[in-house]
Amino acid sequence: MADEAQRTRVTLRADQRCEYCHLRQEHASFIPFHIDHIIPRKHDGDSSDSNLALACIHCNLHKSSNLSGIDPQNNDITTLFHPRRDQWDEHFAFEGALIVGLTATGRATIRTLNMNGADRLELREELLSRGEAL
Ligand SMILES: [Zn+2]
Repeated sequence: MADEAQRTRVTLRADQRCEYCHLRQEHASFIPFHIDHIIPRKHDGDSSDSNLALACIHCNLHKSSNLSGIDPQNNDITTLFHPRRDQWDEHFAFEGALIVGLTATGRATIRTLNMNGADRLELREELLSRGEAL
C-alpha cells in the first residue's frame, strides 16, 4: 500500500483528479480516491510512482485487475488507458457530460470502467449545471 507521502505525491501529480474519468476529488465524495496500480499487483505490477495513478472509486473498482478491454467498435481486445504513458486528450474527450473514446484504447477503457454509467452521467450533468468544469 502507498504510504502517506506517496499518496500525497500521486494525488498532487494527478491534480486531484481521477486519471481515468477526470472527476475531481472535491466533486466526488468525502471518501478519498484510491491509489490505482496501473499494472495490477496480480500481474506483478509494483508500487513505484510510475505504476500508480489516482482513481475515483468507481473507476478503480471497475478496472479491478483488468489490463485490457473490448473496443465496442470492432470487438477487438485492446489494452486499457495507461495514465503514465498515454495522454488523456489523445484517447478521450468530453461531449457535454459524456466521455467519448477517440481511439480503441479510449473506447475499451470507457467500456471496461463503465465511465458513462448512469450515475456517472448524472453526476457530470449536475456539475455542468452548477457551472463546474469537467
Ligand atoms: Zn474515475
